[in-house]
Formats: sequence, C-alpha cells, structure tokens
Amino acid sequence: MDKPGFIKYKKKDPPLKKVKKRIKNHNEFQSLLSDKELRCQSDRCMDCGTPFCHSSCPLGNMIPEFNSAVSNNKWKEAYEILISTNNFPEFTGRICPAPCEHSCVLGINQDPVSIENIEKQVIEKAFIKGYVNPNNISNKLDKKIAVVGSGPAGLACADELNKKGYQVTVYEKDEELGGLLRFGIPDFKLDKKIIDRRVELLDKEGIIFKTNKCLGKDLSLERLDSKYDAVILCIGSSIPRDLIIEGRELDGIHYAMDFLSMQNRINSNIPTNIKINAKDKNVVVLGGGDTGSDCIGTSNRHGAKSITQLELLPRPPKERDESMIWPLFANTFKTSSSQEEGCDRAWGVMAKEFIGNGTIEYVKTEDISWDSDKKTFYPIKNSEKLIPCDLLLIAIGYEKPNLSFDNEFSIDTFPDGRIHANEKNFLTSRKNFFSCGDSRRGQSLVVWAIKEGRDCAKSVDKYIKKKQLT
Ligand SMILES: Cc1cc2nc3c(=O)[nH]c(=O)nc-3n(C[C@H](O)[C@H](O)[C@H](O)COP(=O)(O)OP(=O)(O)OC[C@H]3O[C@@H](n4cnc5c(N)ncnc54)[C@H](O)[C@@H]3O)c2cc1C
Ligand code: SF4
Repeated sequence: MDKPGFIKYKKKDPPLKKVKKRIKNHNEFQSLLSDKELRCQSDRCMDCGTPFCHSSCPLGNMIPEFNSAVSNNKWKEAYEILISTNNFPEFTGRICPAPCEHSCVLGINQDPVSIENIEKQVIEKAFIKGYVNPNNISNKLDKKIAVVGSGPAGLACADELNKKGYQVTVYEKDEELGGLLRFGIPDFKLDKKIIDRRVELLDKEGIIFKTNKCLGKDLSLERLDSKYDAVILCIGSSIPRDLIIEGRELDGIHYAMDFLSMQNRINSNIPTNIKINAKDKNVVVLGGGDTGSDCIGTSNRHGAKSITQLELLPRPPKERDESMIWPLFANTFKTSSSQEEGCDRAWGVMAKEFIGNGTIEYVKTEDISWDSDKKTFYPIKNSEKLIPCDLLLIAIGYEKPNLSFDNEFSIDTFPDGRIHANEKNFLTSRKNFFSCGDSRRGQSLVVWAIKEGRDCAKSVDKYIKKKQLT
C-alpha cells in the first residue's frame, strides 16, 4: 500500500498494439499492466468518504474497496468484492464506457483512477489463479423459470435465479449464446472466448441452455406459460433505426448490425448468408456512436480505401462545460480506438440523399446548426457536399424489440415499442411474464443489462415466493 498514490503516480493505461499491426486481424489488442503497475494505479484511489464513482456505476460496484484490496496485494479479496455486485466483470472491464471514471473525485483536476482496467485485471487474475469456479448449487427448488434471450440481461438474470435454487432454462434464437456480446460487439473489443469461458461456468452450475430456439417459431408464449412458473423476456432491442431518404433502395447500403454480425460469424466460423466487404471501398458510416466506431474498426480491418463518419450533433467540447459539470458523465470530445485507426469525422452533418446508378456512389450531405434548447436543427444554406461512397453503413441506433412472436398482442408495449414492464418489479401486463434489459429499457449498455437482469431476478424470486403463500 503506497498511499496517497495520486501524488506519486500518473494514470497509466495498458499498452495497445500499434495500429498497423492490430488492424491485420480481428483480435483484442490491449495488453495488461504488470501487477506492480496495477497496484500503483489502485493506490491512486483516494478512498473518498463519499465515493461518487460507486454511485455512478449502475451496478454499485464497490470501487474503493476493490482498489484497496488490489493495493494490498489481496487479489482474492478484490475478486470477491467485485463479483458480489457484478456477475460478469470480464465483460464490463473490457467494454463499459465507465461512467464511474467520469465521477471519480480525482477526475476533478487530474486523470481519474483507471477503474475499468483494474476491474478487468482483477477478474483475469482471478481466472488465472483459479478463484473462479462453478458454485455447487444444491437444494434445487421445484420451480421452473424460462429466460428468453441470452444477452447480458438474460445471462445475469439466469445466473442470479440459478444461484437462488430455481431450475433455469435459457432459450436463445441464435446458434450461440451472448446476444450482442457475441454478434454485435466486434471481437477486437471482446474476444468471444471470454463469453465461452463464462457460459461454461453457468452450464456447470446447472443452467440449461437451448440455442436455435426462437420464441414465435419454435416456442410460443402459451407453451412457456404452461411449462414454467415465470418467464423472463430479455430479447434486446434489435429493430434498427432507418434513414428513409431518396436513394435508400440502392445496393451497397446496409445496417451496421448486418455488417458487424457477419464479421463476428466469419471470425468464429459460423455460417452467414451476408456478404459485405469494405475492401478498397469508400465507406461512409452514418452515426457517431459506439456502433459507428465498431463499423470503422471492422472496415479498416477489411482494408477500406477511405472511411468517413457522419454525426448529426455538433462536435463536443474538449473540456466539461456547464451542461456536464462534475460528477455528471462528461460528454466531451473523445477518440475511440477504432477512430484512432483511421477515419475522417464530420459533425453537424446530415445525409440528404444517396446517389448512384443501381449501387450507391455518393452521399449528398448538408451542414446543419443545432438549437439545443428546442432540440432541433436547421439546414445551413449552400452547404451541400458530395462524399464518394461505395458502402454505406447505417449506425443510428435501434428502435425497439422485435415482438413479431406476439401476434395477439398479449403483452403491452410502451408507445415507442419497448415491452411495457414495470421499472421496479419488471412485471409485464401478462401474468407470470417479466422483461428486462434493452427489450424493456431501450437500447442501452451492457452494465445496465446486467443490473436489470440482477434486479429482475430478485423480483421474480419475491413474486414466486408470494404466489406460494397465496
Ligand atoms: C454494435 C454494438 C456495439 C455495442 N457496444 C457496446 C459497448 O461497447 N459497451 C456497452 O456497454 N454496450 C454496447 N452495446 C450495447 C449492448 O450490447 C446492449 O445494451 C446489451 O447487449 C443489451 O443486453 P440485452 O441482454 O438486453 O440484449 P441483447 O444483448 O440484444 O440480447 C438479446 C438476446 O435475445 C435473443 N432473442 C431476441 N428475440 C428472440 C426470440 N424471439 N426468441 C429467442 N431469443 C431471442 C437475441 O438473439 C439475443 O441473443 C453495443 C451494441 C451494439 C449493437
Ligand atoms: S461496471 Fe462500468 S461503471 Fe461499473 S465500475 Fe465497472 S467500468 Fe465502472
């Protein structure tokens, strides 16, 4: 323990492979810090009386506590603290946008504590040291639960209910488990072996996994209802937002998820009918978010000729302004590792028309000015441009879950199409049916999916126990 470390040590992130090398394949490219270096990073934690980081983590991860354990070389203790609030730190430690770091007190006038990386290294160390083993869950209850969807929400919910003794079956429409962790997030951000390693543990703990089982095709709400004491729908939010402008019908225009899931399938030798290749193409990515970044990273790995990313909103400021005072999430200018690999970025730009002869050749854009009070924008006159484009990827978010299985509308939805499940107990309008994760909350983050899965499991447990008494 070498406190106060923040006076002695600067924030140090694990080294990344050089861009030229890492874009040659789809592998993860971040290495780990040495134990000594990581302990210095944990020493930077000030163990504040009021740890804002803790309350900014949706899971309520006990950050000062695991930092203190790492700092004192107590890795098992750090692991136990971490796993007490987070089922899958190996996912969040890799891909969480780390709202905790935005509210770290040290971040007021220095770089914050590198919480996300400490989390990743604690769990990886725990696997290496053999601390992570399947729990022996005896005394199974005679209550059966079905979880539909195996993304982070479904897996977290199944894990929690299984630990409580329920007989849990997870149904998944795809051929592999993990939801967007598996088929959305690129391998270079999350190696799929990390998901397999966790699923293997859950499997050994007694959760039954059934892949290639699609609700609406292979299963019905009625059948699930008759077989299970409770059913939890964790089916994500997979209907993509579209941009219906002139030329939308041209070839060469695809949803980001088609492109990304295709690549993840190819990497894992899973058959796919989709063939989208960015090699030697002028790629335009619509959307400045994480999915857009993933398209850039994947296009660079294909060998794209050029990549341009278009964002409607204005370029964010470099520093916090009055709209994002500490400890709020700082929506400042950032460059993702994929953007660092090479792309042109344009802000305050709207795609107006897709132009081509059968296949897209150009995107016509127009600059816009934002009125942040009215939350609307105005086109700027005479600002039209033509951007050469052979492949256009639409990465402007997701509208709602795909509820095509519910032909009789037996489950209510919110006006925007999300499953109408109560925020506190996750119950839907249909008796014994719950919903959590992106299908209830709308498109969000892995950390929120895990949080909802955990909370939903608590509510299901309470519900079943109450039902037994009545
Ligand atoms: C490209 C991309 C990149 C992202 N990057 C990040 C990131 O870096 N960090 C981050 O925190 N978040 C990221 N997100 C968001 C994050 O992945 C989601 O918020 C999270 O996965 C939601 O979890 P979920 O379990 O609710 O849903 P999902 O992960 O979508 O899982 C839903 C599961 O339900 C299954 N399913 C759907 N319908 C049926 C049916 N009828 N029958 C059976 N099964 C069904 C699906 O196949 C899927 O497996 C990203 C999202 C995308 C699209
Ligand atoms: S899960 Fe995300 S927000 Fe929570 S401690 Fe980890 S990195 Fe921070």
